[in-house]
Amino acid sequence: MSTTLSPKHGHPSTSPTGAAAAVDQSILKEVQLPADADNLYTQTVTTMLQAAEIMGLPEHIRLILAQPKNEIIVHFPVRMDNGKYRLFKGYRVQHNNALGPYKGGLRFHPSVHLDDVKSLAFLMTMKCSLVGVPYGGGKGGIKVNPRDHSAAEMERIVRRFTSAIAHNIGPDYDIPAPDVGSNSQHMAWIADTYSFLSEVGGDNPAAVITGKPIEYGGSLGREKATGQGVVNTLVEMLPALSLRPEQCAFSVLGFGNVGSWSAKIFQEKGARLVAAADHTGFIRNDKGIDAADLAEHVGRGGGVANYSKATAITKDEFYKTKVEVFIPAALEQMIQEQEAGMLQCRVVAEGANAPTTPGGERVLASRGIEVLPAILCNAGGVTVSYFEWVQNKSFRSWDLERVDEELNRHMVRAAHRVRDARSHYKCDLRTAAYIAALERIAKAYAARGIFP
Ligand code: NAD
Repeated sequence: MSTTLSPKHGHPSTSPTGAAAAVDQSILKEVQLPADADNLYTQTVTTMLQAAEIMGLPEHIRLILAQPKNEIIVHFPVRMDNGKYRLFKGYRVQHNNALGPYKGGLRFHPSVHLDDVKSLAFLMTMKCSLVGVPYGGGKGGIKVNPRDHSAAEMERIVRRFTSAIAHNIGPDYDIPAPDVGSNSQHMAWIADTYSFLSEVGGDNPAAVITGKPIEYGGSLGREKATGQGVVNTLVEMLPALSLRPEQCAFSVLGFGNVGSWSAKIFQEKGARLVAAADHTGFIRNDKGIDAADLAEHVGRGGGVANYSKATAITKDEFYKTKVEVFIPAALEQMIQEQEAGMLQCRVVAEGANAPTTPGGERVLASRGIEVLPAILCNAGGVTVSYFEWVQNKSFRSWDLERVDEELNRHMVRAAHRVRDARSHYKCDLRTAAYIAALERIAKAYAARGIFP
């Protein structure tokens, strides 16, 4: 592996069994991170600092990465269908742009709050660097439950939010995308609203956002891209565990965009879905669940709970279902010590961002369960978002074969970088993925310097 960095303490104090490297507490203090061990941002930065310690990342880069560059919070009024007004809270966090414009999704969920958005923005910085797309990291969202609003109310909410952050985003500066609760229709409203604000428009204002409908500048293959990347990663990494997809039973937590596409594509490779879960409940069928049929059922409204071709089970039964591969594809911090202790799998392929807590990870490591970390495993979404942006900027469109081929190339290359870092530093895959991401950022800072 080529690196200009030298390990500060030789080989690491983390190991594949999960013992963590010491963290430079002075940085945590200087940037005033919450001491709360359950805080997602503190957890995320701590993981980065552990990797930084092992690889000998320069102090000033650790410090810069420990807080985002910009944290934008907006409040905006929107008229409801009944004529009353409600005030909404929206966020855009721009973590780092050393490698290129800020990039990251917009989450529409009632529990969105600043520290989560900061963490997700941070993870985007790591992910873009790891997978080799020329972007930094950002994230945003609106504190809203889309299920509580009519289409007309959602349109007004999304358009008003866009106007509130319009001067802080841009096709060459910060390019949002879909995330939990947001979809291609929302992205179309954002692009359209942005294009009317002529002073911030540019040549092709629709390039301000990715994940758009195909008819309005979207890319073929974007909708399935994150699931496709999860499966590309599995295909690349399973042989090291003497597994092939056709030998794998698997379960999926969260059956939205990422969960359902991961399941459909892994099934096409010969794997068998035996259990699924979402916010409505948990289901199992040991003979196999047709992922495409379940996705259609979920798409008609509701969730997995009342799917008639599988049996409803409890949460504990879901986690204890024996599978080779478990794919968490719902929200953050869902695999804690208790869930990790119940899992009966060989591999956790993280489709969701930060689904495993540090405590959960220690339990998984002690039980010999391999974790394919989110910044590698779910990087397919941002990679095809990048392809969409390139197509918008060049006024061209690619066919699906090209998108799939280029995505696979990016995913396989990133997987190799993670594997190389793991064998060089003898650490777990998450630490290795962070190291591989940090190496590229460190080189950019070394070349750029720090202004002034
Ligand atoms: P989505 O809204 O399409 O789906 C979310 C799923 O999680 C739904 O099935 C929902 O029912 C389920 N869920 C929510 N709360 C739950 C709970 N308490 N218990 C069980 N299930 C629950 O969102 P998505 O786009 O599929 O995103 C899922 C995850 O993947 C998020 O962590 C997101 O940040 C991450 N991610 C998404 C993309 C993308 O391109 N969409 C890219 C990278 C990472």
